[in-house]
Amino acid sequence: MHQAAYRTLGLDYVYVPFAITTERLEQAVHGMRALGIRGFGVSMPFKQQVIPWLDALEPTAAKIGAVNTIVNDDGHLTGHNTDWTGALRALEEALGSDGLRGRPTLLVGAGGAARAVAFGLVRAGADLTIANRTASKAEQLAEDVGASAARGFDALPHGVPEVIVQATSAGMSGSPTPTVVPASMLREGMTVMDIVYQPRETQLIRDAARAGARTVHGWRMLLHQAARQFELYTGRSAPLDVMDAALRESR
Ligand code: NAP
Repeated sequence: MHQAAYRTLGLDYVYVPFAITTERLEQAVHGMRALGIRGFGVSMPFKQQVIPWLDALEPTAAKIGAVNTIVNDDGHLTGHNTDWTGALRALEEALGSDGLRGRPTLLVGAGGAARAVAFGLVRAGADLTIANRTASKAEQLAEDVGASAARGFDALPHGVPEVIVQATSAGMSGSPTPTVVPASMLREGMTVMDIVYQPRETQLIRDAARAGARTVHGWRMLLHQAARQFELYTGRSAPLDVMDAALRESR
């Protein structure tokens, strides 16, 4: 996605993967300064571990407590989180900007990605309930973001939400659990987003489409979080169509 965008805009950037270990993380970050590397994309399990080596955190990344993007301004390193932006932009494509305000929304999951998504949903004004297999983690996340309620899976809300965001790893290739959202919950008129992007069509997305709900695929979030990274690295608008085509080609 990044390479395709650089090529299209004629930018003299290159995006390459590095294999890093926890032991070498600090050195890697110092190396970014030494080599004048403009940006890092940070993946699990380093999204929290990298924070002590940065000079500043963008305020929302600080609240989330996880960084997936580092921007280097002449040796001054700022940590950002674009996962929440990606999730919001993907939902806004379906609901319109401000389309989450006041909507009863169920977030399923309380792991790292769910945490970023929860901050985004609350910021967009959603009336948020969080459910997670381990109920205590849902309760902690609800307290951290100011969500209205938290539950274990055994006590999903009786009122039917208008928006469901699935942010557990259930349904991901290799997961033993194909879906954690019962098909009986899904209705016409709902918007259902699954942040899992591998496979592209999860069991939940199929169930939701069958129920007549509007569906939002995890790869839209993946695309939009990368687009926000691109903006942070380059200061330019991301060529979304080009990045989308590159993403589709890679899958
Ligand atoms: P994580 O921190 O390990 O959290 C995993 C979450 O899934 C926890 O809430 C966990 O519940 C729950 N879970 C796992 N297996 C489960 C099962 N069998 N039944 C019920 N709940 C289960 O992982 P993460 O980093 O948040 O990633 C979660 C998913 O999001 C992954 O599939 C990842 O690829 C995807 N993701 C997508 C994007 C995107 O751009 N589309 C971005 C980031 C992540 P407990 O708390 O009870 O263990």
